[in-house]
Parts: sequence; structure tokens; C-alpha cells
Amino acid sequence: MTKAICIHKAGGPDVLVWEDVEVGTPGSDQVLISHNAVGLNYIDVYQRSGAYPVGEMPRPLGMEGAGVIESVGSGITEFAVGDRVAYAMELGSYSEKRVMGTDKLVKLPDAVDDQTAAAMMLQGMTARYLLKCSYPVQPGDTILVMAAAGGVGLILSQWANHLGATVIGCVSTEEKAELAKANGCAHVINYKSEDIVSRVKEITNGTGVAVSYDSIGLDTLDASLGSLRPNGFLISFGAASQPISSFDIKHLAAGGSLYIQRPTLATYTRSRELLNEMANDLFDVVAKGHVKICIGQTYPLSDTAQAHRDLEARKTTGSTVLIP
Ligand code: NDP
Repeated sequence: MTKAICIHKAGGPDVLVWEDVEVGTPGSDQVLISHNAVGLNYIDVYQRSGAYPVGEMPRPLGMEGAGVIESVGSGITEFAVGDRVAYAMELGSYSEKRVMGTDKLVKLPDAVDDQTAAAMMLQGMTARYLLKCSYPVQPGDTILVMAAAGGVGLILSQWANHLGATVIGCVSTEEKAELAKANGCAHVINYKSEDIVSRVKEITNGTGVAVSYDSIGLDTLDASLGSLRPNGFLISFGAASQPISSFDIKHLAAGGSLYIQRPTLATYTRSRELLNEMANDLFDVVAKGHVKICIGQTYPLSDTAQAHRDLEARKTTGSTVLIP
């Protein structure tokens, strides 16, 4: 037996229950991991609420974890007992221990401790594909980042800055503005009190930005499109406000022959080769200090419901780690 945060039905944070679950023993292609740190991500909210169905219940939620391998199946050759490992995008990480396959697993370098790993695998690999695949940022580009003081936001802003971009970050409070400025944003817009499009036009002398990395969805759709330069890119990678359920593509013509993408990390980590490339690039920028992982808050894993409440209430900054 082990302890895990499970849901028996979709709903608000109160559906997250701390309970005993069976761990099981690894099959031939699986490993048993003891988690030292678990990552909290916005996708957990979509899964808990039912926006992204998780299939059969009850089951533990959570998409990211870091820890040590305690036992391996007979067919496992790439990993061994005692290896420090981490993963993202494998449901069931809200647990002290778990059995899982190795498709999503990577070994951790010494330079990356377990809490940092749990804070960055999902958000950091997301930042990586956004900046290098969705729209490859060029030195000299001016770019727009929504929720710049959030988990993905702080990593994205620092990494973009390192690549030579001028980053305009959008946030909702003055405290978050200070944090964003200290983490790669040359300019910050408080979208509670300022108009995004007119501020972007002012900052870019009327040109607009090359790309808007927008994790907020419906609330900022028009502002993102209105901020783009001709042939600019809207990368709509999340829906923290509300999803965009319909979109008339003629807006792309009117805005200046624009591009739009709705990406997912799953596509960019779909093979071992891609996963290793993504993870190694992330480990590299973190080990060299180009990107610092900001753990804004930690919670006991047993108190994950409170972490969800704070994330949805926009009270968190940077990454959040749950401690088993
Ligand atoms: P964050 O730490 O960024 O938290 C969400 C932030 O969104 C809040 O802090 C808040 O910042 C902002 N926000 C704006 N409007 C709302 C609202 N109505 N309700 C709640 N928050 C709001 O979370 P993550 O870093 O975990 O994820 C960021 C986004 O990226 C999410 O939308 C997530 O789904 C997406 N994502 C997408 C991936 C993909 O591959 N497609 C992978 C990983 C994440 P502020 O107060 O400053 O506005």
C-alpha cells in the first residue's frame, strides 16, 4: 500500500482525496518509483474538473514527478535500481510510490535536484518546444508572454531572453510584475489595469510582436491577435481563463496574414529521441544558469487540494512542488 491523492469523480478541489492505494509490482517493462517531489501543473486542474476526462476512476491524478527507482521489471535494461529519475505527462504522480512504464522517464543529472526536477520537467519542456519548435525565436525578436510570472511563464521568459529576444510579459499584479522583470521580461504589462494592444504598440513603435505565447485562452485571444506584427504567430497553448471553442479564420487575414497553433507537449515528446532532446536541452540551460527554476511555493502532497485552490485563484507564482 501507498498513499495517493485520488479522484472518485470530477469536480472542485474537494474531490481530491488522500487515501491508501495498491502500488503493485512492476511488469516486465515497468519500474517502481518512490517519489521525492511531485509537480503541480494547470493541466491537473483541467483533469480534476473534468475538462480533460481521465477515464476510469478512482485514480491518482498528477502528471509529473521525480524520485528514485526502487525495483525494475525483468525486461528493463536502460534503468536500474537506485537511478534518480523524473518524468512529465504520465498520469498518476500524486502518489508516494507508483509503478509505470519507462517511455516518459529520464535520468536526472547531478546538477538537478529532485524538487527542481519536479518543478521543471513539464513546464520547462513546454517552454523549450514553444521557443524552438512552435515559433523558433530569433535574436532581436520582440515577443509577448501571457501569465509571465507563472510556472511556464517564468521559464519561458528567461529562456527567450537568453535566446536574444526582448520579452514583454503580461501579469495581473504589481508583485508579479516585479517577479517577471527579475526573470527575463524587459517590459511588463499589468493586464488588469492596462490595455495590452496599445501598450504593445507603444513598446514596439507600432510594429507589433513576432509571437504571442498565450496560455490564457479566450480572455486574451483578441489582445494576442491584435498585438502581432504582419505574419506574426499566435501560439495558443492553454486555457486558464476559458477554452476557445470557435474561431473564424478570416481574423487571420484581417490581422495581417497571421498564423495560429494549438500545440501540446505530448506531440513534442512522442518518441524517446524527441524526449531526450527536449530534456537534455532543458538540463543544459538550467545547469548553465541561463534559466533558474523558481519554486514559488511547496505543499505537503496530502494538501494538494489547497495547492489547486491557490493555483486557480492566481495566488501562486513560478512552479509549485508537492512533497510526499
Ligand atoms: P501558471 O503558473 O501559469 O498559472 C496560471 C496563471 O494563469 C495564473 O497564475 C494567472 O496569472 C493566469 N490566469 C489568467 N487568467 C486566469 C484565470 N481566469 N484563472 C486562473 N489563472 C489565470 O500555470 P502553469 O505554468 O502550470 O500553466 C500555464 C498554462 O500553460 C496553462 O494554461 C496550461 O494549461 C498551459 N500548458 C500547456 C501545455 C501544452 O503543451 N499545451 C503544457 C504546459 C502548460 P496572472 O494572475 O498573472 O494572470
